[in-house]
Amino acid sequence: MISPINEPAGLLDFSSKLIRWYHRHHRDLPWRHTNDPYRIWLSEVILQQTRVAQGMPYYLRFVEQYPTLRDLAAADEKEVLRLWQGLGYYSRARNMHQTARLIVQELGGNFPASYAELIKLKGIGAYTAAAIASFAYNEPVAAVDGNVYRVLARIFGIKTDITSSGARKEFTALAQQLLPPDDAATFNQATIEFGAIQCQPVAPDCLLCPFNDVCYAFAHGAQAQLPVKGKKNKVRDRYLNYFVVEKEGRLALRERTTKDVWQGMYDFYLIEAAEETTDLNELESDHVLAHWLEMGEVVRTAGPYVHLLTHQRLYARFWHLRMPPERSLLLPDNMAFYNQEEVEELPKPVLINSYLIQYFFS
Ligand code: SF4
Repeated sequence: MISPINEPAGLLDFSSKLIRWYHRHHRDLPWRHTNDPYRIWLSEVILQQTRVAQGMPYYLRFVEQYPTLRDLAAADEKEVLRLWQGLGYYSRARNMHQTARLIVQELGGNFPASYAELIKLKGIGAYTAAAIASFAYNEPVAAVDGNVYRVLARIFGIKTDITSSGARKEFTALAQQLLPPDDAATFNQATIEFGAIQCQPVAPDCLLCPFNDVCYAFAHGAQAQLPVKGKKNKVRDRYLNYFVVEKEGRLALRERTTKDVWQGMYDFYLIEAAEETTDLNELESDHVLAHWLEMGEVVRTAGPYVHLLTHQRLYARFWHLRMPPERSLLLPDNMAFYNQEEVEELPKPVLINSYLIQYFFS
């Protein structure tokens, strides 16, 4: 570690330098103009999975549709997921919706006003609880996200693997030590913003950085090595065969109810295989598919489309089956026919929506 910054005076200097930098360089973002905990929470959940530029339209649409916590609590889950469509990590939207309901129904609509209370809520982890507590209530708790890990690891030369179990405790303790108790909100915003626009992962702007006289990474040319990140989790390959059943211009979709990716969203009938196949005979042991193939014809195949999730790589192939209008058709549970307008309204994974845009929506 670099010594000057570890001295008490150095710590004070760190915070004031950082806050000065923030006042000069921060971006003007809508969630920085509010201390409404609901809106701060919403922005944090959106920004956990996307960059500001991509997340902004979602945030603006959400606050327009659900301006208050009570509006979100009163919404139908399907509508919430539809609005979230394209952001991914749909369980976060579902958790947020359920937590909004809990706050309204069990806490009289009063948003918990302290870190200790916030962290008890479903879907609110240590970072989000600290962000809401400090930004909305100025509670002196350090909010440590990926940006903060990077900034602290580089400046202080911390080599702890940030994916290890003790990392959060270590980095949070340091951030807490640096945080000025009377201005927690600005300090947290400043550290996060500094990581996002000055001390970026790949190309940190070291030459114009106010910390380049004390930064360990700059002094040692170790920007690319810090923070230390353990091995990435293995990515699992999955092979999805989707059957798009069309009858009289309507499509059969089903709600995904099992605990898997995209719970609560809508997709087509799915047969998952151990490996990729282009041969329908290999899938015909599925009795629903066998029944459909007897009745209709395959009018198109498309794919494979490769879709990446955090820990999964999906290879999706679509088989479009057209059914004759005169015959009635058996559909599995959770499945129903929808016309084009209804299909558009359903919440769908991006993969499914891309297929529909290409081949179904005119
Ligand atoms: S000198 Fe470079 S690595 Fe160090 S804090 Fe500044 S931008 Fe980050």
